[in-house]
Order: sequence, then structure tokens, then C-alpha cells
Amino acid sequence: MSRGVQLDRGDEPPAGGVAATFAGQPLVLDPADLQGVDVAVLGAPFDDGTSHRPGTRYGPSAIRAADDGGRWGRPHMTLGVDPLEELTVVDYGDVAAAPGDLGRSHAALASRLGEVIDAGAMPLVLGGDHSLSLPTLRVLGERHGPDGYAVLHLDTHADTADELYGVRISHGTPFRVAVDEGRLRGANIVQVGLRGTWPGPELFEWMRSEGFRWHTMDEIVERGLTTVVSEAVAAVAAAAPRAYLSVDIDVLDPAFAPGTGTPEPGGLTTRELLWTVRQAARKLDLCAADIVEVCPAYDVADITALAAERTALEILAGMAARRRGEASGPTA
Ligand code: MN
Ligand code: MN
Repeated sequence: MSRGVQLDRGDEPPAGGVAATFAGQPLVLDPADLQGVDVAVLGAPFDDGTSHRPGTRYGPSAIRAADDGGRWGRPHMTLGVDPLEELTVVDYGDVAAAPGDLGRSHAALASRLGEVIDAGAMPLVLGGDHSLSLPTLRVLGERHGPDGYAVLHLDTHADTADELYGVRISHGTPFRVAVDEGRLRGANIVQVGLRGTWPGPELFEWMRSEGFRWHTMDEIVERGLTTVVSEAVAAVAAAAPRAYLSVDIDVLDPAFAPGTGTPEPGGLTTRELLWTVRQAARKLDLCAADIVEVCPAYDVADITALAAERTALEILAGMAARRRGEASGPTA
């Protein structure tokens, strides 16, 4: 296994260099080197599934570059565990995206996801547009069966359209297509953060008929984040033995994540998202996770990329605490 790619000598101040891999973790490109790995971070640099502002193909590199170097280790202040000490995490590079050919990009991602899962590791995918959830759901449905996993989906949008502008495979359709293909059970997905004007009543009716559950931002305002997230996580845990956590960064308010393609005012704060994914990772047996729709061209002062990178680290911290059996801490 090669050492992590780092541009400086490690003892220099952060301005002297930025980790070129995720959190400075070792770069692995050969599936044979995935043995013993807990988490393989995988970039999915494609955005041909975007319906509005494009540019998320540059998300993975922006998220990696948002790291602060971790020169003093990364002990989680609340959990007291350093996820990169507790877990073996590698950067599995970027998938071979084919600009202009979403099908080929999806096939490349599915192939790499299969390698990670077959090695017994968890894929943590950095998007890229949310269409990447479709190959993820296909692989999970194939490996675990549609009853073998559930989904916690954090997003402004339900992403359950049967088509968008006449296009079947897009970032607005992955959870619909996967249900139609029999890879995902509607009763096995819980969505958190929905707001705005889409979907409309007809699509919600289809979702209801398939057993989808969702929690809107209005419900979060009225009942409180802690209550709603606890219920959502418990519902996912009860639905299946393992869980896929999919985080669309536009679940954040545009004040906290301007760098995304389909922003919608009225969302979560960054601190709420960090807390939410940590709870999910502590209480669910994650089999896959992703953070999608980071679009650096619209970002300001890297705040969206920073939020995404810290979201990834909070997921890892929650997983590390779960492994240590510390799933009941002060904020449990
Ligand atoms: Mn969205
Ligand atoms: Mn989405």
C-alpha cells in the first residue's frame, strides 16, 4: 500500500501544503490492496446528470482540498475517538468518468463500488451529481438484496421523478429508477430535509403508495431536529440490517452551502448536518455513504467544500465510536 500523497513534508505549517488524498490517507488504486481496509473514499467526478447549474465534477477534488491537514491528529471533541486512528481509511482515487456519457460513468462507479464491497470495506463516495446514487443502489440491491439494506437520504429534493425534462437517468430520478428496477424498497427509505416546491402532490402520492417516508424542514422546525433525526434513524435501523447514507449537500441552507447546483433556501445549518450524520453513523451499520452535489464554481470561501469534508469526517467519527461500542455518549 502506498503512502498518502502529501505535497509537503508533514511538519510544515498548513499553508505549505494540502493533502492531495482524502484527509491525507494512503492512495490505493489496486483492488488487491483493499484487504483489511474499513473505508475506501472514492471520487465520482461527473455531472452529466445535472438539471440546473453544472460543475459538480470538480466536487471530489474541492472536498479533498478542504482538509486542514490534521497535524495534531483528529480526536473528535465529543466522542473522544480519532476516526483515522480507529479505522483504516484509504483514498481509492476517482472513478474513470466519461464526460458526456453518464451511462459509462455509472458503470465505472458500479465496478469500483463492487470492488470495495467485495473487499469488505465501506465505500464513501464524493460526488459528483446525485445520479450516482443509482449505480450505488443497483450494486447494493445486487449484493444485499432489496430487503438487505435501507436508506437515510438527506436532501432538499426527493429525487424520485420518473423522468426530468424527458430524461430517465438524472440527478432527480435515482430513488425512483431504483424502486422501479426492484433494487430498492420504497418502504426502506427515509428522507430528511425536503422543502421548496418540488416534488408536487402527484409525486408525493406515488412515494406514499410505495411506502416512502419523509420529514420536511417544516416538520424539523416544529418538532425539533433531535426528535426528527432520532425517529428517522430508528426507522432506517428497523427497516433493514444495514444502511446507505446519502447526503446531498443542498440539504444545507444556501447560506451554508452556496456551492451547489440546485440551491433552495430554508435548509439545515452546517452544525445540524454534522450532528445528524454522526448520529446516523453511530446507530446504523453503514454499508455505503456518499456526499454529493458539491459544485465549487459557485462556492464562496470554500464553505461548501469545507462542510462536505467535515461531514465525511463526522461520518467516520460516528463509525469509529460505534466500533468502540461507545454508541451511548453524552449526545446519544
Ligand atoms: Mn438536492
Ligand atoms: Mn439530490
